Amino acid sequence: MAEALLQAEHLNVSVEDKQILFDIGLNIAPGETHVLMGPNGAGKSTLGYALMGSPRYKTTGSLLFKGEEIVGLPADQRAKKGMFLSFQEPLEVPGLSLESFLRSAVSERTGVKVRPWEFRKQMRKVMELLEISPEKAERGLNVGFSGGEKKKAEILQMLLFRPDLAILDETDSGLDVDAVRLVAEGIRTYQQEAGGALLIITHSTRILDPLRIDRTHIMVDGSLVYEGDASLVAKVNESGYDEFIAMKKA
Ligand code: ADP
Ligand code: MG
Repeated sequence: MAEALLQAEHLNVSVEDKQILFDIGLNIAPGETHVLMGPNGAGKSTLGYALMGSPRYKTTGSLLFKGEEIVGLPADQRAKKGMFLSFQEPLEVPGLSLESFLRSAVSERTGVKVRPWEFRKQMRKVMELLEISPEKAERGLNVGFSGGEKKKAEILQMLLFRPDLAILDETDSGLDVDAVRLVAEGIRTYQQEAGGALLIITHSTRILDPLRIDRTHIMVDGSLVYEGDASLVAKVNESGYDEFIAMKKA
């Protein structure tokens, strides 16, 4: 087996003293794409936040990233090491333009101060690919962006930031068909050109169709109950989660 990029062992995660995740084990090798599915409330977003180090989540167990224990590291340091999380509900930040936000995020990640005009050129190229209108670059981060535009802005961030592992939490929810196609296109570019690993949380096949998928995980009531290959996605879409919920109860 290739050396793991992310290796979680016996992870338990609590929020406000309520345990949400139980004994999670997860292994993602560099460049692999994993899909995480499961009923609403199963704990998928919680896992995304916990992996990213969001301070609300108390995590015990072991979490190795590139072989280094990161379970106690704050989110900004995990980002610096190459982790990226696209939120289910992206934040609006008036007064900070999308362009300056992304430029400082990329500088922070690479440790190199990016020249504004070079960055702008690079950013415009990716914005074109995602069909984000150029004036959005000057606008307050996510302010007045539609749901679809916010999701595209997250993918833009991922493509510029080039993390080693991107966790995408329902990046496809609420998108129209064109936006889904563009977002999927963006993710595919990341897969192919940046060679980055992905953990994609989703219910739908729409965004997954154009992507190469290595593993699929099913979460029920805070536990990972089943794992399979890419064909598991289609199976879930046909027959739902009943079978996996029964597994958890057994
Ligand atoms: P999913 O993303 O699979 O729909 P979540 O991870 O959002 O599920 O939620 C899993 C469970 O954890 C739910 O029962 C939810 O109510 C609870 N939960 C998540 N975040 C919090 C929080 N910040 N405070 C209290 N409960 C939470
Ligand atoms: Mg969720």
